[in-house]
Amino acid sequence: MGLAPLPDGKVACLKCGKTLSNEANGKRHYATAHQPNQPEKCKICQKLCKNRQARDAHLRKFHGVTPAMMKNVIKPPPLPPARRAILEAYEEARTVKPLPPSSRPPTDSDY
Ligand SMILES: [Zn+2]
Ligand SMILES: [Zn+2]
Repeated sequence: MGLAPLPDGKVACLKCGKTLSNEANGKRHYATAHQPNQPEKCKICQKLCKNRQARDAHLRKFHGVTPAMMKNVIKPPPLPPARRAILEAYEEARTVKPLPPSSRPPTDSDY
């Protein structure tokens, strides 16, 4: 880590000489300003990878997707169970055809 603690509790960035008010700020400055590899989270399983390259490799390996795919694919939100049940009932009603009125062949006993 390129930070040097200063006697007054502040830290100095050794890369650019900037002085930060405390260590946390110093770390954040160093990470945002001087570390190209930021931790990246997997959008699918929320795994935190050490950098974007690792995250992309993880995506490919574990989920079979590329970052480009991730950008384009907008996942539809899962249907709540009640709504899904209604849709299924609707699909069922649509696929079951009502019997035609003449389906029962007339027999002698009908007359
Ligand atoms: Zn710096
Ligand atoms: Zn993942």
